[in-house]
Amino acid sequence: MHRIPELLKGNALVGLAIVGPLGEFIDCNDKLCEVLGYTKDRLKDLTFQEISHPQDLNPSINPYREVISGAIKSFSLVKRYKHGQTGEYVICNLQTEGFYDESSRFLYFFSQVMPVTGLLSLAQDRQLDQIKTAIAQNEFVLYYQPIVNLASGVTQGYEALARWKTDSGILSPNEFIPLLRLGHAEHLLCYWVIDEIIRVQPLVDRWLSFNIAPKTIARDDWSEHPLPPGSHLEILESEAVSSLVQGRIKEARANGVKITLDDFGTGYCSIERLLDGDVDFVKLDQSIIQQLPSVRAKTTCRAAIGLAHELNIEVIAEGVETNEQAEILLAAECDMCQGYLFGKPGPLAKVTGQSSDACI
Ligand code: C2E
Ligand code: CA
Ligand code: CA
Repeated sequence: MHRIPELLKGNALVGLAIVGPLGEFIDCNDKLCEVLGYTKDRLKDLTFQEISHPQDLNPSINPYREVISGAIKSFSLVKRYKHGQTGEYVICNLQTEGFYDESSRFLYFFSQVMPVTGLLSLAQDRQLDQIKTAIAQNEFVLYYQPIVNLASGVTQGYEALARWKTDSGILSPNEFIPLLRLGHAEHLLCYWVIDEIIRVQPLVDRWLSFNIAPKTIARDDWSEHPLPPGSHLEILESEAVSSLVQGRIKEARANGVKITLDDFGTGYCSIERLLDGDVDFVKLDQSIIQQLPSVRAKTTCRAAIGLAHELNIEVIAEGVETNEQAEILLAAECDMCQGYLFGKPGPLAKVTGQSSDACI
């Protein structure tokens, strides 16, 4: 059996409030006070907006419903203003009876739930602050990967991919994008990328393609970051696009920006997304390309390319690593390819021919 201080040692729980069966405040941990900026006394008077049941937070926690039911009475979500950002923090209302018995289950539940509910532990919160500072201080760079015309072998453009230069090396997006998403801060990176593309475009004699989250396009300050005409905007096929975002995409297209539907074939609404007529390119996802030469993957590629061409959309195959894959794609009339076979993402100097820096 554990006591609260032991439970919290080494665990980055955001905050823990213990509330009795009648909802009365009993105790809380220091981290909760720290997070909320209140003293314990003040917390006693605080009313939290309550969410009726934990699983309402996010459907993906449903598998843990049984684990939860023993220990946790309800969740409250508290918004707090911090560094100009509104963050969401969780307060757990526990039935005091049974808490100590259920503590290990509770911790298990919390460790499972935290990554999927968009809640940040204090450790993550600090890391997110570091990433934001790094963006503001220009510690990020773009690496460029060639997109090659399959029939001619000519490089048509480059996809710009973000990297974080740290003292311990160059970090890839999977080290910072998930946290930026959890912390509702991906727009900071997106806007930095747009500024960088504007700076770099005159140095590169091909088009540049970059990744922007629909949530960024939906923001009130979107119009303050106009996209360079001729650039390619990559939008994940799997991300929902509201009518507001659709309207802004149309506007960008009218200003000469091309739209690429990224990771095509992995979302749930691929075909529907092609219907609105605002897509110039689709990127066949690497998970399909890497199954080539299987008969099913070949058939899928041929059908997807045929459909796109009927709709006047060009196709880029992503993650092409072997000559065999490239040959199959050429036979299927795929327009362009991107992948290690044609070049890994590398620094700007490599694209402008000024150095032979290593790629990652
Ligand atoms: P993505 O847009 O699908 O980018 C393609 C990813 O596939 C890149 O990973 C690239 O390095 C990798 N790749 C390219 N060719 C091959 C290949 O032949 N084989 C294999 N195995 N992989 C290949 P990276 O750079 O780690 O980026 C991962 C994801 O992070 C990107 O996926 C994109 O969704 C996101 N991302 C990257 N840069 C940015 C950015 O500036 N802003 C935003 N919002 N997202 C970004
Ligand atoms: Ca992309
Ligand atoms: Ca992709």
